Amino acid sequence: MRILRETGLTLTVELGALTVTMLSDGETRMPADCLRAPDGAALGPEALADPVAGELRLPVRAFLVRGPGGALLIDAGAAGAWRPGLGRLPEALAEAGLGKGEVTAIALTHPHVDHVAGLVDADGGAAFPNAARVFVAVEDLMAVRADPLLLPILSLLVPLEQGDGPLPGVTAIAAPGHTAGHMAYLVEGRLLIWGDLVHNVAVQFPRPEIGWCHDDDPASARASRLALMEQAAEAGWLVAGAHCRIPASAGSGGGAGAMPSTRSPGPDRRDRNSALRRMPFVPSPGSPPPRRRLRRGGLPRYERHFPLSGRET
Ligand SMILES: [Zn+2]
Repeated sequence: MRILRETGLTLTVELGALTVTMLSDGETRMPADCLRAPDGAALGPEALADPVAGELRLPVRAFLVRGPGGALLIDAGAAGAWRPGLGRLPEALAEAGLGKGEVTAIALTHPHVDHVAGLVDADGGAAFPNAARVFVAVEDLMAVRADPLLLPILSLLVPLEQGDGPLPGVTAIAAPGHTAGHMAYLVEGRLLIWGDLVHNVAVQFPRPEIGWCHDDDPASARASRLALMEQAAEAGWLVAGAHCRIPASAGSGGGAGAMPSTRSPGPDRRDRNSALRRMPFVPSPGSPPPRRRLRRGGLPRYERHFPLSGRET
């Protein structure tokens, strides 16, 4: 992986035949008690490594994966529909020298407001006019169809299952729990974009049993987090998430939930990868064992690609 460009709101890397741009939608704050122990008890501000006035920082990120098959946007940010500090995705795209018209398809990790509100522009139309498809996990389709905000994109919905490839080189991996159809995406067998598996890197990397107040099924979300963290460590995948901030250095132990940054003073990328492999993803006593959702150290058994040569007529 090679870092191509970094700006205040973006980081672009080359990964095999694809280019991946992390796009910041901004940052907001959430109450510290959103973090939950396995018994449902809320964690207090004292558990936070980097609190702001007793609250935790929540960055929001989307990703644009570009290649010969098109440009796939993974999640679309909160627009103006949620908390202050968010809705900067269009600004991030512009910073990266990209236009909304370049997006040919969209894949959702799940249909919560901070991931889908940006699909619709301020006038109530589709925000990405050339996006011909919006991929959503089968289990989350009902929630999307029931959201009146998303009416403009309903005709574009394509059901997605584990192993599907919304863009050649991108594979959907089921990570249920936060929502029933919560999806992660593995890019070029190397970078795992895992949506909302982790909301606070500093707390949940050393304590992956800690969950989030908005997990639909906390036990399932915890099992998915443990399983994919373990798989990422075993396979040497880099990981990035919708709520993982940049810059980061796996060597520091506090920022391994995001792609490495040129600004990071950490070790070189090879060392970071070995640091990721060494990270102790050991569930606490009482946590359920991780469920094996994939073959060890490999891609899912099949990849079903969808042709994505722009808007098809
Ligand atoms: Zn989220």
